[in-house]
Amino acid sequence: MVITHARFDLAVVGAGILGLATAWAAVRQGLRVVVVDRDSQANGASVRNFGFVTVSGQCRTTMWARARRTREVWSELAQAANIPILHRGLMVTARRPESVAVLEEFMGTEMAEGCRLLTAAQARQRCPHLASPDLLAVLESTLELRVESVQAIPRLAAWLDAAHGVHFMRGTAVTGVDAPVISTSRGTLEATRVAVCPGDDFNTLYADYLAGYSLTRCKLQMLRLADPGFKLPAALMSDLSLARYLGYSALDAAAPLKARLEREQPQHLEHGVHLIVVQSADGSLIVGDSHEYAATPDPFSHEHVDALIREEFRASLGLEPPPTLERWTGTYASAADRQVLIGAPGAGVRIAIVTCGAGASTAFAIGEEVVASLFDTSTRFDTSTPRMTSTTS
Ligand SMILES: Cc1cc2nc3c(=O)[nH]c(=O)nc-3n(C[C@H](O)[C@H](O)[C@H](O)COP(=O)(O)OP(=O)(O)OC[C@H]3O[C@@H](n4cnc5c(N)ncnc54)[C@H](O)[C@@H]3O)c2cc1C
Repeated sequence: MVITHARFDLAVVGAGILGLATAWAAVRQGLRVVVVDRDSQANGASVRNFGFVTVSGQCRTTMWARARRTREVWSELAQAANIPILHRGLMVTARRPESVAVLEEFMGTEMAEGCRLLTAAQARQRCPHLASPDLLAVLESTLELRVESVQAIPRLAAWLDAAHGVHFMRGTAVTGVDAPVISTSRGTLEATRVAVCPGDDFNTLYADYLAGYSLTRCKLQMLRLADPGFKLPAALMSDLSLARYLGYSALDAAAPLKARLEREQPQHLEHGVHLIVVQSADGSLIVGDSHEYAATPDPFSHEHVDALIREEFRASLGLEPPPTLERWTGTYASAADRQVLIGAPGAGVRIAIVTCGAGASTAFAIGEEVVASLFDTSTRFDTSTPRMTSTTS
């Protein structure tokens, strides 16, 4: 059965942030786009995340450049698509001299653009609620944005549909691609080119091709805590983040910090716990997270892992965590040897997977790379964006 007789220039499989970003890059080239997703509403990593568009801390060079470009596009689209920006900026709190050393080295790199290093006293002027007696310094970055993903992703999709004529087919699983023919659970459709953005589903489309990469999945635990009664001026992170985010952890000064954290917080490291705190419009806090890797992670939130997250909240803010209102888990694609996979598994087809937890922060740049590759439009995009191929960064 043919489900639409329209012939599209581009079919995008997946309506997560990467699929929507790819659709937007294509629309900007004047292309006719259809987006197909098996879910009836967004339900994957893109709506389970912090909505935190992080620039500082992204892996140096390629991912950092992608994040800066993506932040720029989020800013433009947020206005156009009526998506509120709930936070601007990031404060990374340091409670150990080793963490301060990492921040000082970071400040000597090109990645310090838009950042400054504050003493504890200066930081408390910006945010009086940083009450930890151990606070030594804070990296303040002005580059970050934060949106409420559970609202932002549907709004972005609705805007692409209403303002730019992107055609959405929901509740429709794509079962095979032989461009221009796309087979789905509801019949076939046609598109000259296809971009597959399947998130962490490696087994439905191009399973043999993807088996050539060392892909796995990462499960995260997340909490929503009650309104603490004050407004945060920016998103917060802590010492543990400096050992996790490659823009910091790959610096020479990170080795002594990692050694100290292994002695002092082995449980946190074992469960991949670090701290991100962002605030929603109603004052509640989204707090996380943990990282457990498996081909099929268990679907449960474990209380001892939540307790580690709350413990890091308490230590870095010097504040008893407010009551927990909600708990959820999410998964994303992961690979130890790369942060993004962009491949060409068939003629006229690209598959794009963000293989680290940075899809909200890098999707718009990656979408542009995918469209440039499929339609040979690279000269119309910023030429500083990375070349098309699988990327290790
Ligand atoms: C808890 C959590 C917190 C995170 N925090 C952040 C953060 O703060 N900042 C950040 O930058 N990143 C964060 N990330 C990572 C980020 O959310 C992901 O990298 C990003 O959402 C991946 O987007 P995606 O579109 O590739 O995948 P997804 O959002 O998973 O979307 C993939 C879509 O493809 C569809 N699909 C797959 N196969 C098919 C098929 N065959 N047919 C039809 N549809 C199909 C699925 O239904 C799904 O809707 C976080 C992730 C999690 C889980």
